[in-house]
Amino acid sequence: MKKISFKAKITVWITLLITAVCAVSFTGLMLMGRRVASDNTKQFLSSAVISNADEIEFKNGILEAEDDFSFYNDGIYTAIYSESFDYINGELPVSLIDGTGFENGTVQSREKGENSYYMYDMRIDFNRMEYEIDVFSGQITEYEANHSADRPTPAEYKNLEFENGISTAKAIEIALDHAGVPSDEATITAAELTGYTGRQAFRVEFICENSPYDSVWLRGITEAEATADAFDAITNTSVYVLPVFVIIAAAGAYIISRSAVKKIKDITLSAQNISTGSDLSKRIDTGKSRDEIAELAETFNGMFERLHTSFESEKRFTSDASHELRTPLTVIKAECDYALRNGADTEDMREALESVNGQADKMTALVNALLAITRAEQGTDKFHFEQADLSILTKEICTAFSPEKGITLETDIQENITLYMDSTLMSRLIENLLSNAVKYGKENGYIKVSLREEKGKTVLSVKDNGIGIEKEILPKIWERFYRADSARSGSEGFGLGLAFVKRTALMHGAETEVTSAPGEGSEFRIIFSKN
Ligand code: ADP
Repeated sequence: MKKISFKAKITVWITLLITAVCAVSFTGLMLMGRRVASDNTKQFLSSAVISNADEIEFKNGILEAEDDFSFYNDGIYTAIYSESFDYINGELPVSLIDGTGFENGTVQSREKGENSYYMYDMRIDFNRMEYEIDVFSGQITEYEANHSADRPTPAEYKNLEFENGISTAKAIEIALDHAGVPSDEATITAAELTGYTGRQAFRVEFICENSPYDSVWLRGITEAEATADAFDAITNTSVYVLPVFVIIAAAGAYIISRSAVKKIKDITLSAQNISTGSDLSKRIDTGKSRDEIAELAETFNGMFERLHTSFESEKRFTSDASHELRTPLTVIKAECDYALRNGADTEDMREALESVNGQADKMTALVNALLAITRAEQGTDKFHFEQADLSILTKEICTAFSPEKGITLETDIQENITLYMDSTLMSRLIENLLSNAVKYGKENGYIKVSLREEKGKTVLSVKDNGIGIEKEILPKIWERFYRADSARSGSEGFGLGLAFVKRTALMHGAETEVTSAPGEGSEFRIIFSKN
């Protein structure tokens, strides 16, 4: 299968995602926008018709549209029809003049040819009458009727009487009489004095259920396509805009993924350089940012650090081991040359052989120590771990151990301390500590071995009152082949004993500790945690 780069995958995914989000939001917006726009158009249409309704009236018995009445305004056509749907006046497109399908107070849609329209009809009942009646002559000077949608509130009025004239009650009677409305079918909403061209008059206003005037219809019409067209224009534009969005998204995604991948590539390249090159001390540049990628680089650096330390220590180990073996081999070679020289007698040969024997013993001891530690470190030995009694084991080793230099061995061993351990390794560990205590112990000194449970842990301690160890070298004594100045102790160890102790302790999940003071002695503690 063809390898698709991480960068390409991220670019494709982000692009697809942004395209999908754009497409979904655009479609949603268009649908919602169309709906909102058409609702707005309908609302606008009905308000225009309602406000026109206020501008139409019967004045002195003649139907009139006032100045504010508009037959065409902002895409809305209005026409007036009679009660029986005959066209009276208006500015409708000719194709829409027909007076059919009237419905009071609802917006209807209508298709005409290629166009679609919204229509709003309103029936106008002239239920509100207003009269002006001269207070003296009782003559009607002016009257009009218009539409009122409000609930009538009966007016409280005073009955005024004019000498040589009429009263308020009479004026009401004249008005109702003129309109032909029985008084119980009218609600008087105003009856007051007012003036007209220098004379006084009663103004009487009432609302009646059955108007003496014929109703008329107002029909408002607007093109529904107007809003649809606007949206179609946006849709057409989006056909060009959307691909541009997608291209921008793809470019953005590419730039983002490239910068992310570049950092990973840098790390891979550095890691390859380090692993193929011989210089393990090189490190990957983690840069200034503290992000996940920097963390990855740091993890790699940590790994290289450990590899480096481990390789270095391996190198040192091999070189130290070869060095240790070369010294006895040189002596053996020199002794052999001495024995084989011309004129060497039996005594010389015997002396040489004894020396060779001594060096061979030394080499055997070194090889054994090397084997023990390498096996322990590499885990190749077949270890036999089991729950065993450490108290008995320690006691047995101490009993069998006979210290030189007149040193005495004291023990303080708690009974029945068991441990999951390999008894052979554990015996060697204790023996190493005991032999060191003698090697670096004082003539006629002492060694104290204790085994106790302390604070939930098992502590094995080997203490002496020997030469002690300088503070500065304390951390180094656990390293392989590390030996303090041998002149100091006169000892001939290989510097492998404590490394073995530490390794064995680790295999048993234990920690190693040492406290020491030069000239006073040392205490080595192996602390086993209880599982
Ligand atoms: P070796 O004893 O063969 O030199 P070890 O690994 O056993 O190697 O010990 C490392 C060094 O630690 C010794 O060279 C010695 O300087 C120091 N050391 C170990 N045990 C003691 C001790 N009981 N008292 C003083 N110094 C010690």
